[in-house]
Amino acid sequence: MAKVLILGGGFAGVVAAERLAEQLGDEHQITLVSRSRQFVFYPALVRLAFGKSEEADVAFDLRRTMLNRRINFIEAEVAHIDPFERTLTIAHGQVEGKLAYDYLVFALGRRLATERIPGFYEHAHHLLNVDKAISFGKAVKKLHEGRAVFGQCPGARLPLPVYESAFALARRLEEKGERERVRITIVSPTTLESELVDPTGAAVLKKAMDTHQIEFLPNLSIESLTQNSAMTASGNAIGFDLLMLMPPFRGSSAASYLGITDEEGYINVDSTMRVTGRNGIYAVGDCTNFDGPKMGHMAVRQAEVAATNLAAEIEGRAPVSHYQHEMTFVIDEMGAGGLYLHKDLSTDRPATVRQGHFWSWAKRVHEKYWELSHSII
Ligand SMILES: Cc1cc2nc3c(=O)[nH]c(=O)nc-3n(C[C@H](O)[C@H](O)[C@H](O)COP(=O)(O)OP(=O)(O)OC[C@H]3O[C@@H](n4cnc5c(N)ncnc54)[C@H](O)[C@@H]3O)c2cc1C
Repeated sequence: MAKVLILGGGFAGVVAAERLAEQLGDEHQITLVSRSRQFVFYPALVRLAFGKSEEADVAFDLRRTMLNRRINFIEAEVAHIDPFERTLTIAHGQVEGKLAYDYLVFALGRRLATERIPGFYEHAHHLLNVDKAISFGKAVKKLHEGRAVFGQCPGARLPLPVYESAFALARRLEEKGERERVRITIVSPTTLESELVDPTGAAVLKKAMDTHQIEFLPNLSIESLTQNSAMTASGNAIGFDLLMLMPPFRGSSAASYLGITDEEGYINVDSTMRVTGRNGIYAVGDCTNFDGPKMGHMAVRQAEVAATNLAAEIEGRAPVSHYQHEMTFVIDEMGAGGLYLHKDLSTDRPATVRQGHFWSWAKRVHEKYWELSHSII
């Protein structure tokens, strides 16, 4: 019997646990440890903030879902990992103490390095949890004039919600007849082409921004915030009445002392999703060291690959599955239909870019599929 511990209950951890349960016999024990029993469907948080989704639609209780799939769920904080003893110390949860493991899967997501931007905690809104999305939504309702600024800090690696929330605000103000009273600005530490990793996608997005009078300021690295200004590395002060900012991301601190991470704390993995140089340890999702944006569909694909290879390893077979680093997304809320982009990040081949209402619809159908297949069984 093998004891598998999966750390983190986001897209990556949940899919890794589900796929392992499908592939391993009942004699093996699969346990998912996460600090919260709530699974959050992050792509729906922009819609939640703008009152187009309910809180009940974006989160579900992991414990019930996992039990139905014969996976043990423990709500606790990952406190310490001893790779020599093969034990995990957990704290602040329903159980405290040590759990033994034979195989480990890291799926701990990203860490929000807000400490790198003085003033972030006090002055910026963000969309990286349900409470923050709701509080941003309340601030949006109060904005009737002035300037709204959206953007990513250097290292944020999540452009989608920045664009979606800027479009959603523009459309809300258009509907209320208040659009001319609010200036909407998107600030980027790079260019539109590098944020979307493709010139065609960037051109479509720029056209949509022009249609909604959203200005785009490239190559501005926000370094600190005051109550009404974002200070950049080049000495500019960008005034705002409402600010939604993605903070810098880093890898999870729970892996930082194990000698398996790069300089930003992301876990080094190979294409089989095994941690480089370590047998029996895998890592999946935002916590891994792949280039480019950090996205849910990547986390899901990496989890599928890791589960297949871990099941093979447990059964004494060689790894059979390899992760291909591709990016697929839909930017919703643009009014003229969503922007779909698919790009293989391991080649220079241009991206496939499409635009239309179908893509917004497809994104929501995907969201509903997740909700139904996980919360109601
Ligand atoms: C507003 C928003 C919109 C997005 N839109 C899209 C989109 O349209 N398309 C797309 O593909 N992606 C989108 N993303 C990105 C996507 O949500 C992430 O890439 C995805 O959630 C990563 O999954 P993960 O499982 O790796 O990490 P997470 O979802 O961050 O999960 C990590 C889990 O680990 C737990 N954890 C962390 N540390 C500990 C610890 N020490 N002890 C115990 N548990 C711990 C956390 O509680 C969490 O459950 C969006 C993200 C946001 C915030």
